[in-house]
Amino acid sequence: VKLIQLEQVSKIYGQGDNCVHALREVSLTIQGGEYCAIMGTSGSGKSTAMNVIGCLDRPTNGNYYLQGENVAGCTAAQLAHVRNRQIGFVFQQFHLLPQLTALENVTLPLVYAGLPTRERQRRARLALEQVGLGHRLGNKPTQLSGGQQQRVAIARAMVNQPALLLADEPTGALDSRTSQEVMELFAQLHQQGVTIVMVTHEPDIARRAERIIWFRDGQVLQEHLRPEDVQHA
Ligand code: ADP
Ligand code: ADP
Repeated sequence: VKLIQLEQVSKIYGQGDNCVHALREVSLTIQGGEYCAIMGTSGSGKSTAMNVIGCLDRPTNGNYYLQGENVAGCTAAQLAHVRNRQIGFVFQQFHLLPQLTALENVTLPLVYAGLPTRERQRRARLALEQVGLGHRLGNKPTQLSGGQQQRVAIARAMVNQPALLLADEPTGALDSRTSQEVMELFAQLHQQGVTIVMVTHEPDIARRAERIIWFRDGQVLQEHLRPEDVQHA
């Protein structure tokens, strides 16, 4: 089943002589359940592609089918709805709310789903238990290590049970041992059928994915290459 289908997607920032072609007619299909890494040099269009895939931004041209629905023409409000229902986000800097506990942070996405408080708390607790933080429900982010904060962020991303997990440099702020722990969690989610798309600069992290998609100059360069091959290309 095609979960993500970009059809000749272009993204142009600005206008006239100063415009930047961040994506140039990118066509890309990602099947439900795939685990993909996106790599490429700085400025190659990775963030722009993630913003489009994550329904945070719309393409200038082309179509984007998410679970068969063309979201390229959606309004901002419709995109927000799609995001809340279907997509979980994980970022390099965790982006947890510092004044809230782990449990409260994970409860937040469920507020949009309109669930009663007790049910929100039950689901958030379950999500935190699944990332091994059942004993840290009442801790605020500053009371947690970087790896624990990222696990809270993963629980928050998954608490709505989205089909798609988008991760932008999820291990960029972590040491290598903690990074491997986070990658173990991703492997578990993948085994459970979650589709994962992750941007990373780190070959050892990218190798954990089943597929590496390379960007260069706003285009998908080539697939199924190993990181070491492209570094020397
Ligand atoms: P990457 O994530 O691979 O570093 P980006 O998608 O951030 O690449 O950027 C692709 C190109 O688009 C770059 O030339 C960048 O400077 C440009 N760009 C990205 N976002 C904007 C923006 N909001 N306004 C203008 N140019 C942008
Ligand atoms: P990354 O580390 O993911 O490559 P960047 O540092 O390229 O991220 O970009 C960070 C943010 O700044 C992104 O949201 C991107 O859209 C925006 N951005 C990047 N380049 C430009 C630019 N030339 N003008 C305006 N915004 C930009």
